[in-house]
Amino acid sequence: MQELFGLKVSAGLAVGLAYFVENRSQKIGLEKIPEKEISKELKRLQSALTECKEDLTDLLTTGITNESEREILTTHIDILNDPELIKNIQEAISHDLFSATKAVQDIFRATAAFFENLDSDMFRQRAADYQDVEHRLLSKLLGEEQDIFHELDSQHIPILTEIKPSQVSMLHRRGIRAMIIDSCSSNSHAAIISRSLSIAVVSAVTNIRTSVKKGSNLIVDADAGKVLVEPDEEMLEYYAQRLQVEELIRQKHERLKETECISQDGIRIGLHANIGLPEELANSQHLGWDGIGLFRTEYIYLSRNTLPSEEEQFEAYRDVVTSMAPKPVTIRTFDLGGDKLLHLIPSPQESNPYLGNRGIRFSLAHPELFKTQLRAIIRASAFGKVRVMFPMVIDVMDFLEARALFNTCVDELYSEGFDYDSAIAVGTMIEVPSAALCSDALAQECDFFSIGTNDLAQYTLAVDRNAENVSRYYISHHPAVLKLIQLTLINADKHKIPVSICGEMASQPEYVPLLIGMGITELSINVNTHFNVKTTVQNCDEKLHLIVKNFDFSTTLAQVDKLIYHTLKPYYSKQGRK
Ligand code: PEP
Ligand code: MG
Repeated sequence: MQELFGLKVSAGLAVGLAYFVENRSQKIGLEKIPEKEISKELKRLQSALTECKEDLTDLLTTGITNESEREILTTHIDILNDPELIKNIQEAISHDLFSATKAVQDIFRATAAFFENLDSDMFRQRAADYQDVEHRLLSKLLGEEQDIFHELDSQHIPILTEIKPSQVSMLHRRGIRAMIIDSCSSNSHAAIISRSLSIAVVSAVTNIRTSVKKGSNLIVDADAGKVLVEPDEEMLEYYAQRLQVEELIRQKHERLKETECISQDGIRIGLHANIGLPEELANSQHLGWDGIGLFRTEYIYLSRNTLPSEEEQFEAYRDVVTSMAPKPVTIRTFDLGGDKLLHLIPSPQESNPYLGNRGIRFSLAHPELFKTQLRAIIRASAFGKVRVMFPMVIDVMDFLEARALFNTCVDELYSEGFDYDSAIAVGTMIEVPSAALCSDALAQECDFFSIGTNDLAQYTLAVDRNAENVSRYYISHHPAVLKLIQLTLINADKHKIPVSICGEMASQPEYVPLLIGMGITELSINVNTHFNVKTTVQNCDEKLHLIVKNFDFSTTLAQVDKLIYHTLKPYYSKQGRK
C-alpha cells in the first residue's frame, strides 16, 4: 500500500478503480482558407453553434438537478448567444480568411485571456467558462466524440490533467464519486460544482502517474488530501467504517432539519443564509432558513456582458423575495470596485483597489447605476419582506448619502404608481473599522447592522484577505477585531437596533460559541455549513454566556486563542444532542 498526498478541493471519501482520462488536444490547421470557402465556413460555424446550444439545452432540461450546474450551463448558452463574440468570429472568417476552427480558437482565447488577466477569482472562473465553451465548439467543428468518459461508471475514480465544469456534470451522471485532478483551483467553477454534487476531489497529487496504473485499487480521502494506492484489508475495513459514520451523520443532519436553532439556555438564534446568485437558494431552501441575511448582488453584474436593466434586476430580486416570503431577504447593494466592472464601465486603474473606489463609494460615484438597482430592490419589496444594506460604509455621512438616494427612488416610484413596502428597513454593513468606531452615531440612523467580518479583519489588521503569503496575519478572532465587534454590539443595543454577523466567522463552528456568548442572536452563513452551525448553537448554554461575559477582550491573541481553542472547545466539538 502506498499513500500519496495532494490538496483537498472538494471533501469526501470514495473507494474505486483508477482510470486515466486523457484530454485530447484539438488540432487546428493554421493555413488560411480561399475566399470561395468563406460562406461554407460561416455555415459550419452556424451549425456548430446551433448544435452546441441544442446540446446544452438538452442537458438543462434532462437530468440536471443541481442549481450550480444549471447556472453554469445557462452561462455557456449565454456565451454562445453573445452577438459581439459571434460577430468577431464571423469577421475573422470573412476578413482574415481563417477557418471556422481557427477563428473560434483565436477569438475565444483572446476573450478568456482578457478575463484571466483581471485580478479576481470571479473573472478567472469566467475565463474557464470561455475555455469550456471553446472546447465544446471545437469538438463539434472537428467532429470529435464529445464524451471522452464513455467507459467510466460508478466503480471508477478518474484521474485527469484538468477538468471543465461541464465535464463534472457528465461524470456525475456516470455515478462518479471521486476524482483526482492534476490542476484544479478551489475557487474554480469545476470545484464549486464538485462540492455541490458531493464529488470528492484531490488535486496536485505527487507521483500519481508513476505510482498508479489503470485499474489500481484506490481510496480517495479528500478530507485529508490523500490517495491510498492498493490499500490493505485493514485500511479497507477502516474506510468502510468511516463511510458508515458519514452515512450516520447524513441521517442525523436530516433529523436535525426538524429541530429548532435554540441554545440549551433557551436563546433562539436566527439562522439566515448568504447567497450570491438567486439560483443558489433553491438548493438549500428545504433547510428552513429564517431569512436571507446577505444577498451579494454584485454577481448579477459580474456574470454579464451588459449592464442589467431595472426590470431584469427587479425580476431576480422579486423571485428570491417571493420564495422566502414572509421571511426577510437582506439585499446588499452592489459591492464593486472600478477594477471589477471594467468590462461594463470603464474606470481608471487604481494602484490599490481595496482602498479605492469600491462598495458604496462606487455606487455613489455612479448614481444612475445605483438608482437603477435601488428602484429594482424597492419594487421587489411589494412581494415579501425586503431589507436593504450598503457595503463599505465608513461613517454616517456615507450612510446618509446612500439613504438620500434610496429616499429619492421611493418618492419616484410612489409618483409613478408602483407598489412597494413603505417600511423597508435600511441598514449598513459594519466591515470597515471606522464604521465600528462610529457605530454609536450610525446606530441612530440605521435600522440594522450586519457585521462583515471578512473585510473587518482585512482592514483592521491591514492584511489582504486574498493573499496567500500574508494569510498568517489574517486572524478573524484577533482581539482588535473582537473589540470592534463588541463595540458595535454595545451601540446597537444602546439604540435598540438588530445586529447580525454575515462574514465567514459566523459559518465557522469554532467561532459560533464565542459570537453567541458575545450576544449575537442572528447568524448569516454559507448554505453548506447549516448543520454544523446549528449543532453548535444547540450545545451553547448559560455557562458559556458567563465565560464570555467575564472575558476581557483588551487582551492578547494568546488569551483569545486559549478561550476559543481550549475553554470553548466542548461547545463546537461535541456531537449534536439530537
Ligand atoms: C464581509 O466582508 O464580511 C462580507 C460579508 O462581505 P464580502 O465577503 O462580500 O466582502
Ligand atoms: Mg465585505
